Amino acid sequence: MDINNLFLEAEENLQVEFKKIDKIENFYSEKVMNAFYNNNVQEACFNSTTGYGYSDLGRDTLEKIYAEIFSAEDAIVRSQFISGSHALNVTFFALLRPGDELLSVSGLPYDTLHEVIGIKENPSSLKSFGIKYSQIDLVNDDFNYDEIRNYLTNNKIKVIEIQRSKGYSTRKSITIDKVEKVAKLIKEVSPETIIMVDNCYCEFVETKNPIEVGCDVIVGSLIKNLGGGIAPNGAYVAGRHDLIELVGERLSLPGEGREVGPTLGINKSLYQGLYFAPSVVASSLKTAILTAYVLEKLNYKVSPKYNEVRADIVQNIEFGNKEDLIKYVEGIQASSPVDAHVTPIPWDMPGYDDQVIMAAGCFTQGSSIELSCDGPIRPPFIAYQQGSLTYNYGKISIRKAVEKLIK
Ligand SMILES: *Cc1c(COP(=O)(O)O)cnc(C)c1O
Repeated sequence: MDINNLFLEAEENLQVEFKKIDKIENFYSEKVMNAFYNNNVQEACFNSTTGYGYSDLGRDTLEKIYAEIFSAEDAIVRSQFISGSHALNVTFFALLRPGDELLSVSGLPYDTLHEVIGIKENPSSLKSFGIKYSQIDLVNDDFNYDEIRNYLTNNKIKVIEIQRSKGYSTRKSITIDKVEKVAKLIKEVSPETIIMVDNCYCEFVETKNPIEVGCDVIVGSLIKNLGGGIAPNGAYVAGRHDLIELVGERLSLPGEGREVGPTLGINKSLYQGLYFAPSVVASSLKTAILTAYVLEKLNYKVSPKYNEVRADIVQNIEFGNKEDLIKYVEGIQASSPVDAHVTPIPWDMPGYDDQVIMAAGCFTQGSSIELSCDGPIRPPFIAYQQGSLTYNYGKISIRKAVEKLIK
């Protein structure tokens, strides 16, 4: 097949899909712009604090902006969160007490949380503090509503976790409609239960977020969607004011909570990242859709398909064999802005069970709002691709990876 023609045909046939993404980008650009205006963003917001970090105007204003964008009562946005996983960890420990029960209603949680929860033994897990964990699996990529109703009727659950993005699984990511349906059910049966959503990769993809459909707190990483490829690290938690306060007390210390936390010069990057985020997420989505179209034409199984509803920016490509997976990942690495001359090899990544191969020639280490592609070395050899700072760079990279693949 002629690669030139394939990409030309793809772009022609994707115009309808791309228009839908443009609309979402427009929706969130207005939201961000209004939130900057309403919270009076000014140059003083880019000043920095050191030491304890008392009275950091930029930090405190940014948290108000995040809260407004999510229609949440409150938000905490900090570089003291190392990553999304760390923010999830802090939120669990902030909300749960010994004797409490945590229930996942979206099946097995993300790999890095296994030792946090105690699914895999760790002397510092929630389990080691006497916090019980239970799990209800998805059925046909949707919640098991009957089982959830039944379980909540017979057990007292402190926190329910919903993970929207698929992680390293083959299920579909969970759309906001499904989140709404399950949140309604949970609040009807057990109004006291806190609904906590792992919202990683889902920000600015659909026009509603989990807070707006009845969930209590959401968590996400700033080296994904909302950092816009500019934030150097960090994460956010948004939601109910009392819960965000608890998260702040756990992140720093009881009694000081959110009043401390120096920003050490990163405020401007966090503002700029958020400002770019609607456009960067749109570029990521277009790159994902192009990938789905092209790789399907080349007879690989892809999920989601190019014209399917998307809940996140992740694109799966099922290669069926180790060699093709590795070739494709190498192709993405070779077309990265940084470390293009490096050959990625599978390795034992901390927190993950299988060996993982990862293309991440990124400006920011581990950033996956930049074009990145990774996959555990296990059948059916799926690549999880996400990000791209611009659509054009994404397109060129995919093309190079495809050329490598079919050579
Ligand atoms: C990426 C991700 C996380 C954690 O992100 P890190 O910032 O890499 O720690 C958690 N949950 C899901 C579903 C993710 O995709």
